[in-house]
Amino acid sequence: MKVGLPRALLFYYYDPLWQAFFHALDIETVTSGATTPHIVDNGVRNSVAEICVPIKIFCGHVVELLATDVDAVFIPRMITVEERKRFCPKFLGLPDMMRYTVPGLEGRLLDPDIQCRQESLADAQDYESLAKMLGKSGREVKRAFAVASEQWEVFRRYHRSGMNIDEAMAALNKKENPVYEPPKNEKRLTIAVLGYVYNIYDSFVGMDIIKKLRLMGADVVTFEMLDDGSVAEKLQRYSKTTPWTFTNKLLGAGYDFFEDPKIDGMIHVTAFGCGPDSMLGRLLEFIAVDHGKPFMTIRVDEHTGEAHLSTRVEAFTDMLRRKKFPVR
Ligand code: SF4
Repeated sequence: MKVGLPRALLFYYYDPLWQAFFHALDIETVTSGATTPHIVDNGVRNSVAEICVPIKIFCGHVVELLATDVDAVFIPRMITVEERKRFCPKFLGLPDMMRYTVPGLEGRLLDPDIQCRQESLADAQDYESLAKMLGKSGREVKRAFAVASEQWEVFRRYHRSGMNIDEAMAALNKKENPVYEPPKNEKRLTIAVLGYVYNIYDSFVGMDIIKKLRLMGADVVTFEMLDDGSVAEKLQRYSKTTPWTFTNKLLGAGYDFFEDPKIDGMIHVTAFGCGPDSMLGRLLEFIAVDHGKPFMTIRVDEHTGEAHLSTRVEAFTDMLRRKKFPVR
């Protein structure tokens, strides 16, 4: 069996886990390529107009995979990975959305429900239905989950040591020097970039914002580098939370970054049509005002040009630099 994995949405958070899972079951995987204008066009053509940009892009990746010889496309229904929080409703309905909008997917859709209390999916329970879909035994699937969870924990440990998603993936794949070394003796800024992994690390949506900021003399921190305990503590202290897992992670990270004196400013990257971000964005703006910290929102859609993003990022870093290193 050959399973297609769309390089979109939670690919940027869970790919090491799913790769290890399928590998442990001796199932071949094929990942779609990096997002291109062609993929975006296909996604837009096959989605309803009102849906957020990341879902349109996901749809484009599914179309891309269906054009290959994969037997099935893996689209799990991500429901919950912690107590009392759920994924954004778009994730809950993702397999159905794809089934009814992408021609040719019916019969080639692998859509298990993921409902756990641990982010590592170590406590996944529903082995039998997934085993049936994959033609394996429940015991084999259970064992594969255990192997995959361990691999994913290594990935998360890399994050907590200061690596971003790209660097942690490179480290897992044993690439040499995966971590960016900033130039020495340069007056550098530290900027927090907040956004869903599929907005920051998809080079079409995020337009390599981390790379751009580094070239402009800024070190970048992101939510996944924070310790889960510290984020949970902030969320408890500030008491305002949201019901969605990843939105909440970003909010907790926002509280943390705004309190951190090492952070010179923060950029929120959001996609057009995102419901949860309409709430998150406002909350972040209020906290920024309370802490007197520079804050900027960049909203991208399928038409956003790179020049727009570069100009705004450049203006923001210039402003932070003048504030931090005033010319006398
Ligand atoms: S959180 Fe926002 S961007 Fe992500 S899937 Fe939900 S609506 Fe779309």
